[in-house]
Amino acid sequence: MARDEFLEPVKRLLAERSAYRCSNPDCQRTTVGASIVDPNKAIKPGVAAHIHAASEGGPRFNSSQTSDERSSASNGIWLCEFCASLVDKNHGVDFSPELLKQWKEIHELRTFVELTTGASEAGLTGWCEEFEGNWKLFVKNPTIVPFYDCVVRGFKQENFDADFGDVEVVFGTIPPRQSLDDTIEYGILSSDIFGYPLIDLEYTDVEGVHWLRHSSGKLAKIDFRRPFD
Ligand SMILES: [Zn+2]
Repeated sequence: MARDEFLEPVKRLLAERSAYRCSNPDCQRTTVGASIVDPNKAIKPGVAAHIHAASEGGPRFNSSQTSDERSSASNGIWLCEFCASLVDKNHGVDFSPELLKQWKEIHELRTFVELTTGASEAGLTGWCEEFEGNWKLFVKNPTIVPFYDCVVRGFKQENFDADFGDVEVVFGTIPPRQSLDDTIEYGILSSDIFGYPLIDLEYTDVEGVHWLRHSSGKLAKIDFRRPFD
């Protein structure tokens, strides 16, 4: 049986919509770059992979698809060469069409957010400001996706004299920017905080991945959460 391969324009579209990065949320590897030796060449180790296989017997093959559907962009996902190989192992049993479609949808949303906000690392930012005599914690969500279970983890100043337990005030969903005008305010008594600390925040994104936003602006994945009470 013939394989319903993607044509070059479809491959390019998938690559561009993914910003030439692997769509596996745990990979995100860049799949385009410069050749150091040849100034006229780029290196592009990315793959337009099939969500449902290109031919019968392949991983996740869907017999109800037409040939056109099988070779359309909607049946493709951009991956690095390792992840393209990974998702097809054992006939793709560990990587369902639904999972790959979720990867693709979230990754394309991510590239859109990065494109429109200029942020290469989307995520929450928090800081404290004096407001009408009291200190308030401000949390900003610059992206179009909500974040969950945000807590204050610490302050930038090493010798900061505050009881962190008293300022763990952000909890729940931090919605998209459209619905809350960028900023959520939480009141903190001025007696609790002395100075203008930038804060570390811990939160969860739509994929269920836990993040730590350091006050330096650095974003890090974390694989543990301190217990909420
Ligand atoms: Zn990858």
